[in-house]
Amino acid sequence: MALLKILKFGDPLLRKTSRPVEEITPRILTLLDDMKDTMRAAEGCGLAAVQVGVLRRVAVIEVEEGKVIELINPKIIAYAGEQEDQEGCLSNPGNYGITKRPKHVTVRATDRHGKEFEITGSDLLARAICHECDHLDGKLYTDVQIRTVKP
Ligand code: ZN
Repeated sequence: MALLKILKFGDPLLRKTSRPVEEITPRILTLLDDMKDTMRAAEGCGLAAVQVGVLRRVAVIEVEEGKVIELINPKIIAYAGEQEDQEGCLSNPGNYGITKRPKHVTVRATDRHGKEFEITGSDLLARAICHECDHLDGKLYTDVQIRTVKP
């Protein structure tokens, strides 16, 4: 287990577009494992590789305890509805904003075995999928927030 350093808002790397994973190497598998440990240690429900300084299209999400979703090269292929709720980011600890996101999201991604899969999530999971996919394009939740939440 290795805990990685999480970059904070203001770090220029967080604004970069991540590159697709072309081959699932042992290095990518270690990255997934370390990202999972780092996300859990920080008590977050999602983490993108760029947040730990790796510009690859990789993210992990855990909105239901024990159910980690690993996303390699994720792409949102469908969405529906709308939700407004509080959103934060491990790169901006202690701060929250209200954002508008789709209520249901379907994402297509590759798993650690190289197999393509699709997941449809609602509410918090839909929000997390959007949030992590945005990170891979250098977007942050503060770009889409309607207002900040006073701590
Ligand atoms: Zn984030």
